[in-house]
Amino acid sequence: MKVIIVGGVAGGASCAARLRRLDEKAEIIMVERGPYVSYANCGLPYHIGGVIEKESSLLVANEKTFREQFAVDCRTRCEAIAIAPEKKTVQLRNVATGEVTTESYDKLVLSPGAPSIRPPLPGIDLPGIFQVRTVPDARAIREWIEKGSLFLSGMNNYSGFQTVRPKPHAVVIGGGFIGLETAENLVHRGFDAVVLEMGDQILAPIDQEMARIVEGYVERHGIRLALNDGVAGFKQAANDTLSVLTKSGKSHPADLVILALGVRPDTTLAKSAGLEIGQRGGIRVDEQMRTSNPDIFAVGDAVEVKDFVTGEWSLIALAGPANRQGRIAADVIAGRDSRFRGSQGTSVIGLFGATAAWTGASEKTLKRIGDKDYEKIYLYPNSHAGYYPGARPIAMKVIFRKSNGKLLGAQALGEDNVDKRVSAFAMALQMGATIYDLEEAELCYAPQFGSAKDPVNFAGMVAADVLRNDMPLSHWDSAEKGYLLDVREPFELAVENVPGAANIPLGQLRARLGELPRDKEIFVICRSGQRAYSATRLLLQNGFKARNLAGGMLSRTHAAVFWQD
Ligand SMILES: Cc1cc2nc3c(=O)[nH]c(=O)nc-3n(C[C@H](O)[C@H](O)[C@H](O)COP(=O)(O)OP(=O)(O)OC[C@H]3O[C@@H](n4cnc5c(N)ncnc54)[C@H](O)[C@@H]3O)c2cc1C
Repeated sequence: MKVIIVGGVAGGASCAARLRRLDEKAEIIMVERGPYVSYANCGLPYHIGGVIEKESSLLVANEKTFREQFAVDCRTRCEAIAIAPEKKTVQLRNVATGEVTTESYDKLVLSPGAPSIRPPLPGIDLPGIFQVRTVPDARAIREWIEKGSLFLSGMNNYSGFQTVRPKPHAVVIGGGFIGLETAENLVHRGFDAVVLEMGDQILAPIDQEMARIVEGYVERHGIRLALNDGVAGFKQAANDTLSVLTKSGKSHPADLVILALGVRPDTTLAKSAGLEIGQRGGIRVDEQMRTSNPDIFAVGDAVEVKDFVTGEWSLIALAGPANRQGRIAADVIAGRDSRFRGSQGTSVIGLFGATAAWTGASEKTLKRIGDKDYEKIYLYPNSHAGYYPGARPIAMKVIFRKSNGKLLGAQALGEDNVDKRVSAFAMALQMGATIYDLEEAELCYAPQFGSAKDPVNFAGMVAADVLRNDMPLSHWDSAEKGYLLDVREPFELAVENVPGAANIPLGQLRARLGELPRDKEIFVICRSGQRAYSATRLLLQNGFKARNLAGGMLSRTHAAVFWQD
């Protein structure tokens, strides 16, 4: 059997290696247009920032590895330019010489990825404007920074005694994970970085109130955010710098511009071969990664996948799904019955020592598709036992089915061990777990790692209390007009209070029940919802109608309070 794989990075390289492990006899050709195969594009922002100093560290495997260890005919600088499905052939062009050859295949795998979006804006080709997708992209950015360091230091304006080194300016266009990671790295390299984002929040997959927390955090660490403003064009400015012009009419000075506007599935070859393209613009495949032509498979960023929670077709540009899909395509080609389960969009980003991670559906996705059968909770547990040094709060939002408790999604932010919690949620979600399963999950515990009730258990317990009606819940948007009872201590109210709320600290509540109305629903507030839970239980058992305000003051103010030291 002869298999040609187009694209030699995440999906393509996984497919080639897996196929060899399954079939020693297959003839495997892997073609890659660029100079490298199997490189770590996820590490590129950190190479730009100097965290990963050596470019060679990004090259996980090379042509030689594929040839020697896997007997794969690996060809770099070799582009697939046309497919003739009826003849089962592919035309390959040697990028260096332009020579075109034709190869036949029994099975073809497409893993061409998703190039960065580069809108045809005025000035987009000016020097100093880069994207972050490949090793040569990162190299070009580093060279620009290094070559420009004299100029960027302001020495071209040297006029005698100069001790202040002006900060060079970087404008990053796009507040997704590649844009933010690159902005962080540029801040570490001494840039004043502005992230220009057309949407009303950064990190579009998460809900806005959670994004606000991240926004506050990155702003405190030196990234300036310009939300609700798109790029309109670029102009050459004085001293070889650029001006980034925005739709609202602003102009941002820039010594360096990074385009991180997102990616678009590369469907050029697929379209020319007449393969079906889905409604989201990606290559349509079945669960076994087969395209509309049974001898052609497609994997990775170029394909549409089923959203694991909503069942909608979606585009998910992540390395994990691309690698798994490459492996599944290899399995199927080798005669195995592997299937892709759909993607949960499980993601993580580290920014200035904090982590944001998420999995499954967001609330805004559920709202968009008109799904009303869900409830959400906010909680702020410590990352590990509070008495052990270094514990930090984790802000969590967990979304679950109201009707059966099934976990639908989780988003978490914090400075310690956020990823392991979201990985636990992600696994639970894929196994179809309910919040009752989270209550019972037996997770690692010693004081430096977690709590006897891990934040994941804790989320399950809070959610289960809501569904069992042990803790009626309310949210700020529906509660502020009701009777509000704040059970915090008076000194806490001095920092922040809710106008009009009655204050009876939890410790005094049993003795002062007579002060509360019996004919009204009481919305109970504390800092994070924990004391309000005890107060709500106390009130309910004394015949009051009471609801806990989810997440307490922390979910009312989100960014403002959570990141205060
Ligand atoms: C800067 C950056 C950071 C990222 N960070 C993360 C992260 O932290 N976590 C995460 O999950 N994901 C991350 N990703 C996304 C992840 O890298 C991609 O989802 C993954 O690489 C997709 O794999 P793929 O095989 O579909 O495409 P790619 O890995 O992009 O590979 C496609 C390859 O196909 C080649 N190609 C295209 N057309 C042809 C042709 N006609 N002939 C020959 N070759 C062709 C291209 O040159 C390219 O090298 C990041 C991506 C970038 C760019």
